[in-house]
Amino acid sequence: MDFADRVRRVEPSATLAISNLASELEADGADVVDLSVGEPDFPTPENVVEAGKAAMDAGHTGYTSSNGIPELKDAIAEKLHGDGLDFYDEDNVIVTPGAKQALYETIQSLIDDGDEVVLLDPAWVSYEAMVKMAGGSLNRVDTAEYDFALEPALDDLADAVSDDTELLVVNTPGNPTGAVYSDAALEGVRDLAVEHDITVISDEIYKEITYDAEPTSLGTLDGMAERTVTINGFSKAYSMTGWRLGYIAAPEELIDQAGKLHSHSVSCAVNFVQHAGVEALQNTDDAVDEMVEAFSERRDFLIDLLAERGVDVPEPSGAFYMMVPVDDDDQAWCEGAIEDAHVATVPGSAFGTPGYARISYANSKERIEEAVERLDAEGYL
Ligand code: PLP
Repeated sequence: MDFADRVRRVEPSATLAISNLASELEADGADVVDLSVGEPDFPTPENVVEAGKAAMDAGHTGYTSSNGIPELKDAIAEKLHGDGLDFYDEDNVIVTPGAKQALYETIQSLIDDGDEVVLLDPAWVSYEAMVKMAGGSLNRVDTAEYDFALEPALDDLADAVSDDTELLVVNTPGNPTGAVYSDAALEGVRDLAVEHDITVISDEIYKEITYDAEPTSLGTLDGMAERTVTINGFSKAYSMTGWRLGYIAAPEELIDQAGKLHSHSVSCAVNFVQHAGVEALQNTDDAVDEMVEAFSERRDFLIDLLAERGVDVPEPSGAFYMMVPVDDDDQAWCEGAIEDAHVATVPGSAFGTPGYARISYANSKERIEEAVERLDAEGYL
């Protein structure tokens, strides 16, 4: 048998594919404005870097207990209590190398061959890949016609879920939309989850990055504590993408199962990184506020630049992305935009929603303006 036929194949991440294309153009000397990246353009706060270095100097370089060091699990539990999730204690937490690993372990623990998972489109690219890797099947509910709000899509969601649905993934504020779901929408999710006995992943990785709407943690709603898996991490709020630190908070039965998978696959998150994580959770309020303020200004700036060119976008209330309506063939639009204007964006179809391009405004106002001017000049707006 051909070796290529032996390996299981997973689609590459569309965001990475575009970033790679941008890197190739840059290697050829092009000045690419990269609005495709999913990471803050701010450095990790200095005190967090120092805490990491101090932990290395203190010899925190060996394995830790698999689910994480007690200091960090305590600090995470305290943070979750602050979000109203007061039923989690340190035994409900697994510290992982990134929220991505947290999601992977959760989905692997919950989903067996053929189990149905419902996604709210547009949905972050890796959910689909993770569900497929676990053998699950996907059922997708599109929110695009409601400008990415969930409340008006609740009837569609009710039609999509059934007693056969094992898992629903909710991500608010969302990637790629920046949408923050209303309390009424989340209550609608709760009613359906309880009625059909569905487990819900609440991916809260952008929870700390919001402008004019505070997202409620799904697990705080009546009836949700026992069926919610809360995922969060340090990549976005504390500009720690490359440190790889995240966590699962969930009922102990899930922690027990995912913990076994975790110990067999990653052993533990990096020791000194976990120590830096304690500092990030406890002493970075000012740095986070400053970054969120900058993102909020850039969001308004970009919306104005697009409006001046007659492009209306559904206004995001959090994260640092917006979905801009483009041609039906969004793939061709994004490829053209990078080739002709040297502006990198991600096609909406990668998130299940064609006809849009995701723009990340984790970039300076000057570069954002430069990108919009180039796209305009090349006829892409
Ligand atoms: N969830 C969402 C919605 C994301 O956008 C990302 C990263 O882009 C992640 C999870 C994973 O974050 P990390 O693994 O860097 O903690």
